[in-house]
Amino acid sequence: MPIYEYVCEDCGTKFEKLVLRASDKEGLACPKCGKSRLAPQLSTFAAHAGADNSQAAMPQCPSAGCCPHGGTCGMN
Ligand SMILES: [Zn+2]
Repeated sequence: MPIYEYVCEDCGTKFEKLVLRASDKEGLACPKCGKSRLAPQLSTFAAHAGADNSQAAMPQCPSAGCCPHGGTCGMN
């Protein structure tokens, strides 16, 4: 299951977001301060999910593990 971790760059709040579609990543905001300056971090759980065939159904970065954007560049 694609769960992404984000860290708010304004207040430092860390939270997780379940992303089922690429559109789920749009309009994300910090649950504490409401700002949208978020630093995405690929969770270990999401990295695990990439090992099975679930990755075929997801618009993933082709360089999954080493993407400088944390694998979120598939949001284009
Ligand atoms: Zn915040």
